[in-house]
Amino acid sequence: IMLGSLVLGLVGIIWAGYYLAKRAMVPIEAAWKKQQQFVADASHELRSPITGINSNAELMLRHPERTIEEESHRINNIIKETMRMAKLIAHLLTLARSDANEAELQLAPLDISELIGTVAEQFKPLAEMNQIELSVQITQKVELIADKERLHQLVVILLDNAFKYTPAGGQILISCFTADKQAVIYVQDTGQGIAPENLPRIFDRFFREDKARSRESGTGLGLAIAKWIVDKHGGKMGVESEVGKGTKFKVSFPGGNSR
Ligand code: ADP
Repeated sequence: IMLGSLVLGLVGIIWAGYYLAKRAMVPIEAAWKKQQQFVADASHELRSPITGINSNAELMLRHPERTIEEESHRINNIIKETMRMAKLIAHLLTLARSDANEAELQLAPLDISELIGTVAEQFKPLAEMNQIELSVQITQKVELIADKERLHQLVVILLDNAFKYTPAGGQILISCFTADKQAVIYVQDTGQGIAPENLPRIFDRFFREDKARSRESGTGLGLAIAKWIVDKHGGKMGVESEVGKGTKFKVSFPGGNSR
């Protein structure tokens, strides 16, 4: 009987050890799988602009008699694909650095109301071109200790998306204020909205509601980067959306001051 319980005890200990080791390995395995998926997705996404550049160039070579004007749409396609690839690579680099924990924030006092004003000004020509009414609502000066470049990137990503997914005649509103010692930024649009089942996935890398439509200018990485920037600053990011009505992104950072 003693031998029996000894064996049983040993088996129990071995089983517990195995169970605990396996449980510890699950997160590592999951992280590894995620990394593999990221590399696979990135390679796949890079392939499409390369194919585009290559086929346009080959078609031009087949007709050496054509003038530059006659081939201008192909040249434009190449430029467009090159720009897409540059954007994709820049986004991939940002995420790779963030994964490697190599992206240090350059923290300094920052006036976000001023920053939003500057970025919004840069979007004015696009607003005019797309016939969208862009408004900025800033009633107070909002200050924060933050990385200026990163916050600039965040606002650009959110406004860029608002423009991409809002048809002509729509409105986009960006506002910032302080509430409960938080610096808050809202980016609202009257665009196509996001289906409720997709809302939890929009911050995932490479997730796009409509792969074909957003292929043109989207990388599917913008919101993943935006979320990382907000997290890195200890902030929170949320979204509310209704299909056909519009979308509202809310970002809040602790420690906002207003004057
Ligand atoms: P993308 O480069 O495709 O815009 P993002 O990571 O920035 O990638 O966004 C992921 C997806 O979330 C988009 O493809 C789109 O489906 C959805 N999305 C983001 N912002 C908006 C918005 N303002 N209105 C509607 N859909 C949006």
